[in-house]
Amino acid sequence: MLGDLRQKLTDRFGTSDERRLDSALRRSGPVVVPVRFHVVHNGRTGWLSVSDIRRQVDTLNAAYGGGRGGVDTGVRFRLTGYSHTNSSAWFYRPRTYESSMKRRLRKGGRGTLNIYTAAVGTDVLGFSTFPQWYRRAPHMDGVVVDFRSLPGGSFRNYDRGYTAVHETGHWLGLFHTFENGCRPPGDGIADTPYEARPADGCPHGRDTCPQRGGDPVHNFMNYAHDSCMREFTAGQGRRVRAAWAAYRGG
Ligand SMILES: [Zn+2]
Repeated sequence: MLGDLRQKLTDRFGTSDERRLDSALRRSGPVVVPVRFHVVHNGRTGWLSVSDIRRQVDTLNAAYGGGRGGVDTGVRFRLTGYSHTNSSAWFYRPRTYESSMKRRLRKGGRGTLNIYTAAVGTDVLGFSTFPQWYRRAPHMDGVVVDFRSLPGGSFRNYDRGYTAVHETGHWLGLFHTFENGCRPPGDGIADTPYEARPADGCPHGRDTCPQRGGDPVHNFMNYAHDSCMREFTAGQGRRVRAAWAAYRGG
């Protein structure tokens, strides 16, 4: 998938070096992502208010703007619409009904972030598509998160809205910090140290790989508790801007 990104960037800009591309990409100003929010509920269960939705979008803006401790990635989000759909089948089995649910509800083009909330489950809190997948399956594009993971939700340890921040990271082209474990290229980002396995809870001083640097346990693209998460890195910021230029913008 990284190879596909490099090819796209080379075709379009004559280089795939994200550092060299970056000043040009930044000159065009922040990337503003329109957000369409889809609340799938079963009667009163899973129903979310407009202020719940707005708090989630605010959390995306804080996380991607560096307001929780990391860099400003140059990505912003703007709520442009929302819907409520009462369906117990879609609500309780969003994986099984993913295709029909998205075919019915999805709005916008390749640069529109569609976020769906449902009862995703207890092992997995959300799932997302990657920008490279859009061309082959545009109707499947988007992010699905558990309704209890929104800010102030009832999902223990995952109630600050960072599940949507994490899944949106995938939607923007980021891998997990533990991708490939200690084997190169890891997650393909130079300033997120290698990591053998996901962080659980909030481990202190963990360092699971022989390469330089402790595990990036506070990174949004890890699996730590929400109270432990706070940052994207400069390299991740460059990656999302490059992936945006290659797959979602313009
Ligand atoms: Zn993930």
